[in-house]
Amino acid sequence: MRFEIVTIFPDFFAGIFENGILRRALAEGLVTVGVHDLRAFTHDRHRTVDDRPFGGGEGMVLKPEPLAEALASLGIQPKAERLGGGEFPEEPTSWAKARADIKGLNVGAEAPTCQPRTRVILLSAQGRRFTQAIARELATVDRVVLLCGRYEGVDERINQLYCDLELSIGDYVLSGGELAAAVVVDATMRLIPGVLGNEASSEFESFGVADAEIATAEDGVPRSQHGAGGLLDYPHYTRPAEFGGLRVPETLLNGDHAGIRRWRREQQLRKTLANRPDLLEGAALSSEDEKLLEAIRNETSSDGTELQNHSADA
Ligand code: SAM
Repeated sequence: MRFEIVTIFPDFFAGIFENGILRRALAEGLVTVGVHDLRAFTHDRHRTVDDRPFGGGEGMVLKPEPLAEALASLGIQPKAERLGGGEFPEEPTSWAKARADIKGLNVGAEAPTCQPRTRVILLSAQGRRFTQAIARELATVDRVVLLCGRYEGVDERINQLYCDLELSIGDYVLSGGELAAAVVVDATMRLIPGVLGNEASSEFESFGVADAEIATAEDGVPRSQHGAGGLLDYPHYTRPAEFGGLRVPETLLNGDHAGIRRWRREQQLRKTLANRPDLLEGAALSSEDEKLLEAIRNETSSDGTELQNHSADA
């Protein structure tokens, strides 16, 4: 899989991909990253990439022409031309279906067959919130092109003409899209098959998929983890068993996989209820989870105390 990043600060990315999992993925050729200097697509002495906003107001806006040229250099045409006049799907969840539809229509072997495997993304505080689900979708395509805004942002026509998705990494305003692009690359590349040492591990962490969607063989050993099913992760501990006067919960020390699994699920529910109750709505919960959640809620409302993440052993 390849990431292309278009930026006025290419040096920002020097060193950022040289550590940990991404460095290994790059070294093994599982992921490649191209960083493109927007100023290389200007034609004036000052290499101008910005201009004043129409209508007045503060700040400058990134001009459309250098961005369009940068995209053309990557073989990216305007959306309307890419699918022979067809619309790109708005919802990332429909991308897979859209690809199937395109195949079904038997679109010619020329441009359109490879184009649906590229996603052009504008980083923007006004975008759809970047989530693990979107990262999972992105990890299935061949190429992700990330446009980094600066100043007041990017001329909106670039978004309208070229971008499949406008993405925000959170409800705050950054000074540029570079940090956001690095976040998207990091979160996406670790979901590409082969990048994480243990293929299944992304399923078991925060926002992971439900048990039913995990295809790993159990080879007779009971698993001590649940697929997160959209919940937050449970707390993790390592040696020593006692630290700062706190002992690791006994359940984790006794090797009872079923007990560990139950304890971890309860902690996932507690932590999600305490820190991100909004996630419970879309989570894949079993009837056992629902009962446990009800018990945790009752426990809280009856003693009037705040929800605790670290309950005593179950
Ligand atoms: N005027 C814009 C607004 O109020 O939405 C803010 C522009 S911001 C100072 C400059 C650039 O930073 C944006 O064009 C975008 O590329 C990037 N950026 C800022 N916040 C972001 C966020 N939460 N997620 C992704 N990109 C962001």
